[in-house]
Amino acid sequence: EEEIPEDHPRYQDLLTRHRIERGVEKGITHLQGMHAEGRGSAFDYLLGEETIPSADDAERAAAAHLLLADDPVLSINGNVAALVPGEMVELADATGADLEVNLFNRTPERIGAITAHLREHGAEDVKGLEADARIPNLDHQRAKVDEDGIHAADVVLVPLEDGDRAEALNEMDKTEIVIDLNPLSRSPQVADVPIVDNIIRAVPNMTEHANALTDAEEAELRTVVEEFDRERALEDAERRIRDGL
Ligand code: ATP
Ligand code: MG
Repeated sequence: EEEIPEDHPRYQDLLTRHRIERGVEKGITHLQGMHAEGRGSAFDYLLGEETIPSADDAERAAAAHLLLADDPVLSINGNVAALVPGEMVELADATGADLEVNLFNRTPERIGAITAHLREHGAEDVKGLEADARIPNLDHQRAKVDEDGIHAADVVLVPLEDGDRAEALNEMDKTEIVIDLNPLSRSPQVADVPIVDNIIRAVPNMTEHANALTDAEEAELRTVVEEFDRERALEDAERRIRDGL
C-alpha cells in the first residue's frame, strides 16, 4: 500500500485492488474474489466513486436495524476480510453484533486464516467454525452456518454476498442487509436494506450512524427503519449509473 501515491486520481480503487491481491497471497481471499472485485470496481466508477444520498439513507437504516436487533450478525467472507477487517470489528462493537466467517468456497484453512486476520484487527469472538446448522434450500457446502450465529440471527449483514445465498437467507425469517455496488444483482434485489456503495465507504459510515444513534429511543430507531424506502434506493442507484453513462 506504500507504493500507491495518495494523490493518484484513482487512489482508492488501486488501494482496494491491492488489498484483494494481498488477501489472495495471505490465503484469506479466493482467486474468484478478484473477479468480484473487478465487477465492483466497474460499478463504483459508474456511480462516481462516492456514497450517493440514497446509499447514506440505507446505511443509516441498516445501523438502526442492527441497534434494534436482539441477535445481529455481520457475515465476513474473503473479500470483506481483505478490504475492511478493522472496520467490521468497529461496526460490531458499535452495534453489539457478532462476527461470523461465512465463505462461499469454504475450506478450514481459509476459515482459520480469516479468523486469525480478524483477531489481529481486534476481534475477540469470531463465529463460523462450528457450522452446526444449515440455511434451508441451498446445497450442502454453501448452506453451512453457526446455529447460534447466522442461523439464529434476527438481523444479518451480508456484504458482497452470492445471489443464491442472499435469496435463501431472505426466505428465513430475518432482516437482511446487503452491501453490493451492482443494484441489478440479485443480492441487493432481495435485501430488506440494499446498500449500493463500496464496502470501503459503507462500513465506516454505518459505524458513524450507529454511534450517532446509540442513545436514541427505540421509537426513533423504528422511525428511521420505517422511513427507508428500498425500492427508491435501488432506483436511485440505477438512475445514477444511467445518468453517469
Ligand atoms: P451473481 O448474480 O451470481 O450474484 P455477481 O456478478 O453478482 O453474480 P458475485 O461474485 O456473486 O458476482 O458478487 C460480487 C458482487 O460484489 C458484485 O455485484 C460486485 O458489484 C460486488 N462488489 C465487489 N466489490 C465490492 C466492493 N468493494 N463494495 C461493494 N460491492 C462490491
Ligand atoms: Mg451478486
